[in-house]
This record gives sequence, C-alpha cells and structure tokens, in this order.
Amino acid sequence: MAAVQKVGIVGAGAAGLTAAILLADAGVDVEILEKAAEPQTLGSGITLQGNALRILRELGVWEQVKARGYGFSTLGLRAPNPDGTVLAVLEDIKTGGDDLPATLGMYRPDLTAILRDRALQAGARISYGKTVTDIADDGGSVTVRTSDSSTSDYDLLIGADGLHSAVRKAIGIDVEPQPTGMGIWRAFVERPEEVVRTDLTYGGPCFIAGYCPTGPDTIYAYLVEKAQERKQEDGPRVMAELAGAYGGPWNEIRSSLDHGARINYTWFTSHLVEGPWNRGRTVIIGDAAHSCPPTVAQGAAMALEDAAVLAELLIAADHVTETLWKEFEDRRLERATAVVTASVQLGQWMLDGVRDADVPGLMNSLSTMLKEPA
Ligand SMILES: Cc1cc2nc3c(=O)[nH]c(=O)nc-3n(C[C@H](O)[C@H](O)[C@H](O)COP(=O)(O)OP(=O)(O)OC[C@H]3O[C@@H](n4cnc5c(N)ncnc54)[C@H](O)[C@@H]3O)c2cc1C
Repeated sequence: MAAVQKVGIVGAGAAGLTAAILLADAGVDVEILEKAAEPQTLGSGITLQGNALRILRELGVWEQVKARGYGFSTLGLRAPNPDGTVLAVLEDIKTGGDDLPATLGMYRPDLTAILRDRALQAGARISYGKTVTDIADDGGSVTVRTSDSSTSDYDLLIGADGLHSAVRKAIGIDVEPQPTGMGIWRAFVERPEEVVRTDLTYGGPCFIAGYCPTGPDTIYAYLVEKAQERKQEDGPRVMAELAGAYGGPWNEIRSSLDHGARINYTWFTSHLVEGPWNRGRTVIIGDAAHSCPPTVAQGAAMALEDAAVLAELLIAADHVTETLWKEFEDRRLERATAVVTASVQLGQWMLDGVRDADVPGLMNSLSTMLKEPA
C-alpha cells in the first residue's frame, strides 16, 4: 500500500497533473486545487526535450503528444544576416532514449489538455477557482485553506503552484525567483514550410532569434533581448523591428506578426531551493522549487521528472519518513541544480559577450547526464 491515501495537489500545471496521474493510477485519492477559474485554452508553444517525452510516455500519453506536436532530432544554427544563412545542422542528443525524438514542440494548452484528461480518467478530481492561501501541518495531516474560506485535509500536500508558489511561502521557504537580465518576446504564428526543426540565430539586435514548430501548421517564434520595461501591446511593432535583421523563415514570420499573432513578453528568472523541498508533509515540486531561463528548454522536463520521482517513492513506501524525503532530495536536487546552473550560465555568457565560451561542452555534459533516467 502507498505511503499516503489522500493527497492534495496545488496547481494543475505539468508538475501537478503528472503527480496526480501517477498517484491516482496507484489508487490514491487525489484532489488538485487550481486557482484559474477554468482550464487555459490560450497560450504559446513549448519545447519538450527527450527526457520530458520519456515521462509523457510513462504516463501513457505519448501517442497523443506525438499526434498533436511536432517532433525532430536536429538543431539548426543560422547567421544573423538577411539571408539567414544556415551555418550548421547538428544532431541533438536524444535524452529520452533512441526511440523518442530529441525534441518535440507543441502548443502549451494542448499539452495541458492531454494531461488533464488523463488525470481525470485516472480518477483525480480537479477543482478550479481554488486559490490556496494557508496551510497547517499537524504532523499527521495537512489542512489547506483556499480564498473562498473552505478547508480540506490531506495526508500529504504537493505544492506544484509554479514560480510564485504560495505553498513555498506558507511552509517558510524564503527563496524567490530573481530576474536574470534577459527578456523574451514569443509569438504563436503559422508555420513557414521551411521550418522543420528549431533554428537558432545568435547575435544581431537580439541575443537569440529562434523558433520551434508546434504542429503541422504552427510554430512559436522568439526573440531574446536584454530585459527592459516593455508593453505587451507594442509586441507586433517591436518584434517586427527586431526581427528585421533576420532572414530565411523570419521573412514570413515577420509578416505574420501583424495578423493577429498572439505575442507575449516576459523576463527570465531563476531560483533554486537548495535544501530539502519538504517541510513535514508538504513538499514543493516543479517551478515552485526551481526555475531557470529556457536556454536549454528543461523547465517542463524537470517539473515532470520531479513529479514522477515523488510519486514513485510515495507509491513504493509504506509510510512518509525522513528516509523517503532524503531519497527524494538525493534523486532530484543535484539534477535540478545542474539544469539551473547550466541554463543561467548560457544566458550569462551572452549577457557578458563571452565569445569563446564552451557552449557545446556544457550542452554535451548536461545532455549526457539527462539521458540517464531521473
Ligand atoms: C518564457 C518562458 C519560456 C519557457 N519555455 C520553456 C520551454 O520551451 N520548454 C520547457 O521545458 N520549459 C519552458 N519554460 C519553463 C516551463 O514553462 C516551466 O518550467 C513549467 O511550466 C513548470 O510547470 P509547473 O507545473 O511547475 O508550473 P506551472 O506550469 O506554472 O503551473 C502552476 C499552476 O499552479 C497554479 N497556481 C499558482 N498559484 C496557486 C495557488 N495559490 N492556488 C492554486 N493554484 C495555484 C497556476 O495557476 C498554474 O496552473 C519556459 C518558461 C518561461 C518563463
């Protein structure tokens, strides 16, 4: 029998839904409390690396993900010139194993919808419009209060409530995401025929100009710049101006920006909870525990892996013990630290204008580590 019978999960993102699926499959009574009034149907794209796809396969949703997304196993590098000259096409390390693509792009709300349907099918309950505000842990159970003044009791509480986690704060972990100095414009647009993988262009007016196909008809394109005060409504104009320096598929992407493209600007952040991620019977996972700039696109993969390892340990144990928490920390902290450190380092090299940085060396050692299952 699992170490817990009734688990509360705060947040219906990738981390929360993954934990819910695995625990509910094992017969645990699972309730997710999600502050959004309803499932999000609008958003941008996401790049999922092989190690994220490996977990999605474990969840039994790989065929759906494959059908809705766009898989590929090479990475293109282009010059910041009007032709967008292709400088190199590199084979990517397949961190999920050789039978999965190295990378898959998809529309974020599609990924969430697939995981949500699977969680409901497994028997998890998802309550929307529930913002968690307070937590009380008496050593044997956790009482959770939401902003509508209702309370619920659980054997264990999982805070999968993202960057600005209320659970993290409530259990007294005093770590907050900090800006890394970079900002990103993202646009969800039609796929130019030429876009069949991610191509990155370093240099020009931006640190990085890139795109990732998210399905047969769509891509998300992004421009990474020095973080600054920007207005979301200026997106089409600013993106078109910045993108003016880039050629190849960017010519078509630029012309899509005016036609109702969904454009978003945000700053990169990073943080890492360096000690244990639990206090008593409450534990944080995913972006609640760590975040990093998406320079290696590993945020969602780390969230999925955190959830899968935690569920595995809870299902295999008879009781929630310090040994279980120690094992969770041993299996997660070093790996998440490596991802956060490498992601921040890659950004910092660009911010500092370091020209001879060993980017391939760093990427190679990280991918080799990530190829080992979590
Ligand atoms: C610009 C940008 C681009 C990125 N691109 C990529 C990428 O290409 N690939 C990649 O792997 N990662 C990427 N990431 C990182 C990735 O998005 C995250 O790592 C991942 O979504 C984390 O999932 P999560 O479930 O931990 O958190 P989230 O997805 O943030 O989910 C948290 C959930 O908790 C809910 N919630 C919050 N507070 C409360 C509360 N008090 N009560 C109840 N519910 C609450 C929220 O509404 C939300 O649904 C990117 C991040 C950024 C900022």
